[in-house]
Amino acid sequence: MSVETPQRSSEASLSNLVAAARSRDSGMFTEAEGKALLAAHGIDVPAGVHLELGQTCPDHLRDPLVVKAVSPTLVHKSDAGGVRVGVTSDELPRIENEMRVSLAEAGHELTGLLVEELAPAGHEVIVGAVRSPGIGWNVMVGLGGILVEVFEDIAFGTAPLKKPQIADMLGQLKGKKVLEGARGEIAANLPKLIDLIHRLAGPEGLLSELPEEVIEIDLNPIIVSETRAVAADARFLVGDAIPGPRTEVAAASDFGPLFNPRRVAVLGASGKKPNMANRYIRNLQDNGFTGTIIPIHPAAETIEGSPTVANLGAVDEPVDYAYIALPGSRVAEALAAGAGKLHFAQVVSSGFGEVAEGIELEAELKATVRAAGIRLIGPNCLGTHVSAAHLSFVPEAPLTPGSTAVISQSGGLSVDILRVGAASGIDFHSVISIGNSADVSAAELVRAHLDNDEVEVIGLYLESLVIAAEVLRTLEAAPTRKPVVLLAGGRTAGGSRAASSHTGALAGNHRLWPAFARQAGITLVDSLSDFASALHALSTLDLSKPITGDDVVLFGNGGGASVLAADALDREGKATPTFPDSIVDALEDLDVPPGNGFANPIDVPAGTLAVKGGDIAEDIVGLVLEGTELAGSPAATMITHLNVGIIQRNLGESLGDVTGRIIESVARASTASATPTQQMLVLKGDGSDETAALIDDYTKRARGLGIPVFPAFEDAAIAARAVGEQHRAVTAHAEAASHTKATAHTKATAS
Ligand code: ADP
Ligand code: MG
Repeated sequence: MSVETPQRSSEASLSNLVAAARSRDSGMFTEAEGKALLAAHGIDVPAGVHLELGQTCPDHLRDPLVVKAVSPTLVHKSDAGGVRVGVTSDELPRIENEMRVSLAEAGHELTGLLVEELAPAGHEVIVGAVRSPGIGWNVMVGLGGILVEVFEDIAFGTAPLKKPQIADMLGQLKGKKVLEGARGEIAANLPKLIDLIHRLAGPEGLLSELPEEVIEIDLNPIIVSETRAVAADARFLVGDAIPGPRTEVAAASDFGPLFNPRRVAVLGASGKKPNMANRYIRNLQDNGFTGTIIPIHPAAETIEGSPTVANLGAVDEPVDYAYIALPGSRVAEALAAGAGKLHFAQVVSSGFGEVAEGIELEAELKATVRAAGIRLIGPNCLGTHVSAAHLSFVPEAPLTPGSTAVISQSGGLSVDILRVGAASGIDFHSVISIGNSADVSAAELVRAHLDNDEVEVIGLYLESLVIAAEVLRTLEAAPTRKPVVLLAGGRTAGGSRAASSHTGALAGNHRLWPAFARQAGITLVDSLSDFASALHALSTLDLSKPITGDDVVLFGNGGGASVLAADALDREGKATPTFPDSIVDALEDLDVPPGNGFANPIDVPAGTLAVKGGDIAEDIVGLVLEGTELAGSPAATMITHLNVGIIQRNLGESLGDVTGRIIESVARASTASATPTQQMLVLKGDGSDETAALIDDYTKRARGLGIPVFPAFEDAAIAARAVGEQHRAVTAHAEAASHTKATAHTKATAS
């Protein structure tokens, strides 16, 4: 078969290739077949030809040549002496003999030769792709040879990939500079490489055409020279079909009844022995739910003071939301009765798809609600919290309505998110625990939140990459964008399945979570406290203000504290660059006691902060903001850190509310300035209850001024990263959307 006369891959020819691969021990397409497929998609492969044993080399192939052994059992050719690089055609008979011997020694039978032209010298890059169930193709790019094997200098993305996303993957490689020609190396033609990956993994790329039985691909190496990106090797592995993302789309729902429920039914409460559902009713009552609570019970007359209805079918008016804590086996029947009467059912009961015995039960439940026109949340979850409606499954719920909406795959954690989040300054729109998400999915809720004007910031706790991939696609396709923060569970290095390709072996969860988050423009965090810090900042600050760069101004008391703060910021990719002389000079002209560091970090002793009872902060911040504006680089973010214990102990008696006046001065200077900044505050305690009480009060006041407050630099640093990342994500989405609009307009006017 000739490699250079490719045919467009038809479905029939692909299934022939799959069948042929199955007949081989290797389970792979032959290299020639793989390369023909690549060529058919416009991917550059070496001119080459498959030769039977004893056949001579055709004239049109030009020396120097590469000779490769062909054998149905051979996978790693070089390891068995099956690759000879830079030879001439007259050496062929000798090479054939040598390969026959060396392959036999390695237990393979030589059946033919692949002879191809030598690709121009360049950098060896590995491009691979591996299918994950429910996700699709995870695409990897890395620097070849020792760099991928020892240093694992690789980046992942999930197909389909657009060219800027591919460029971003290359940008993540530590060896990018090497590719670009550092230290006199060849400058690789990166546009050609990006184009190659796009032809493979782009929206209409080869990957999108391959049958589900093709499960792994390695193009190792791709030789990227100054002029070409040539796939010098190609492996396509066939195995058991791996299903792609689910394509069934649930009927678009109006989530109004869930977020503003007036009539709530509760199934599972007892008239005799109070249980979880009884507690749920009490929580509703104690949290001040003002709608109607309807306990559903066949026998009891009243439960928790409310008259019961025998079953969902017997309610007189439609019910917005039902909380269901019945034994798993009784749920479907109870919901079937609610056909035409119930909008949303949240099934907290467990024993469904999360355990092997419950998979069938969950399928039955899903079929029942679909037939009954009911949207199902759960099963195996804890409940829904909506602040404005005073609907909550937790006792003494934090009910100040806000703009942060959280979707959690874990029930228990959703309670922690509510409590820790509220204590961190978050006012929630809602927190929904989705459990197994048999029907209403995280992605669907994200879509609903994007459309909901009451929601400004979205938080996710997810444990499943499949769900994360759905969210990623939803965000990419949605017409609008809002800040999104993801706390991901299950990110340890385990989890990559046994694979026969490099790519497969490297595609572990610990790599895919960050790759997904990056591709979707989501801020990924590691802990509940970071999650809360990021959401607090994003919901408090005005992200529509332009932010340029990653520069941060630090202002506060304590030299060591400033150094640690700068370190914490550096770990989150933020810089605290030294001010230009003009700013330092202006600050030094202020009439303040000596001992100040003015170059950024601005580190001043308490005595300086005491000037004008704390109002000096307005002068300092004002000069800095004015100065950065003049210097042409607006300060993206400013973090003021105050050691409240020290300030109030030393100055409180003589000057009173110094800390408060500093905070208000910062806010005033920031509002008055033409330079847009994101202001954040770190208020540090000293372990005493007295200071803690002061901090509580200052925290409330600062938040009232639109300044997010954190207990430590590490928290502010996470918040600064989140604000930068989400500002970029929201802006990029808006730009892409206006670009699409503009192109659509051009197309429309052109036709
Ligand atoms: P293996 O099965 O061992 O991975 P490859 O086909 O990748 O075999 O070949 C081994 C090495 O030979 C490659 O990593 C590359 O350095 C070199 N090579 C293979 N084909 C070519 C070619 N057409 N032009 C230049 N170098 C090549
Ligand atoms: Mg190879």
